[in-house]
Amino acid sequence: MTENPEISIVLPCYNESEAVDSFFGRIIPVLNKLALSYEIICVNDGSKDDTLEKLIEIKKTVSQVKIVDFSKNFGKDAAMSAGLDFSRGKCVIPMDCDLQDPPELIPEMVKIWKSQNVDVVLAKREDRSDDSLAKRLTAWLFYKSFNQFSDLEIPENVGDFRLMDRKVVNVVNSFHERKRFMKGLFALAGFKSAYVGYKRPVRSGGQSKWNYWKLWNYALDGITSFSTFPLKLSTYFGLFVTLLAFLRGGWILIRTIVFGIDVPGYASLMTAILFFGGVQLLSLGIIGEYLGRIYLETKQRPLYVVKQIL
Ligand code: UDP
Ligand code: MG
Repeated sequence: MTENPEISIVLPCYNESEAVDSFFGRIIPVLNKLALSYEIICVNDGSKDDTLEKLIEIKKTVSQVKIVDFSKNFGKDAAMSAGLDFSRGKCVIPMDCDLQDPPELIPEMVKIWKSQNVDVVLAKREDRSDDSLAKRLTAWLFYKSFNQFSDLEIPENVGDFRLMDRKVVNVVNSFHERKRFMKGLFALAGFKSAYVGYKRPVRSGGQSKWNYWKLWNYALDGITSFSTFPLKLSTYFGLFVTLLAFLRGGWILIRTIVFGIDVPGYASLMTAILFFGGVQLLSLGIIGEYLGRIYLETKQRPLYVVKQIL
């Protein structure tokens, strides 16, 4: 293996026994054809199946493979962060193991990186027709609200599949936060970028590790990591309600002076109490979301634990 390869592929793997063989079957010819030095950093994210054994088997024939084996499952973002930490290539390409990021796109990305003076080449999904309507709708909603609430702009329909120059990777590696919303961290690093379009194929084998509950939490992490706008919501809402209360209070006062006391009011009182109970709990919840994250960040625990490097 050369000291600093041209390309590092970063491959987080979690229970990918069914997918690894076909992944390597497709990527190795592509990389060999490029005739540039490369390394493939496989991060075994605590797989419970025989993913590690399969990777070790592949390493026997492909010497460019390096395996970072985690002590347990730490999640894709931690696995990718580890891959970026261990990579030494002049450019780095994070990829999914399930062939949803087609390896055939790599030569074009490398060509653009070398010829167009850009530091990031993003693979953009041009067609999401294979995703369900609900998935496309929630993805769209997420991108819109993220870009609205945060100062950052994350490009729509761009996943982690991208080429990054070493400069960019070094910046991303210097962010030490525990909650690693990678799309946000990549965008935070900045640098000039170009796009290549592709159609995202369906998974080659095995199962997606995502469900809607996980996606919701992922979206929450993303927004709370990059925006404090939700915290301000209660301030503005509070101001608005206070103004209304003044007007309404004034009106009740005048009405009582002019027309006397009006006793019935159970319905309006009940509604107001329940409504503001809800609003207060919601505001507390928002504060709690941030507080919990501050708590986790302050502990400074390691992002991942490496059991062995092969
Ligand atoms: N992955 C991981 N750790 C996890 C979950 C996923 O390393 O806890 C890896 C997984 O092996 C795959 C990539 O992250 O290579 C993307 O996962 P998946 O295909 O489930 O996500 P999707 O493509 O459905 O967004
Ligand atoms: Mg996938």
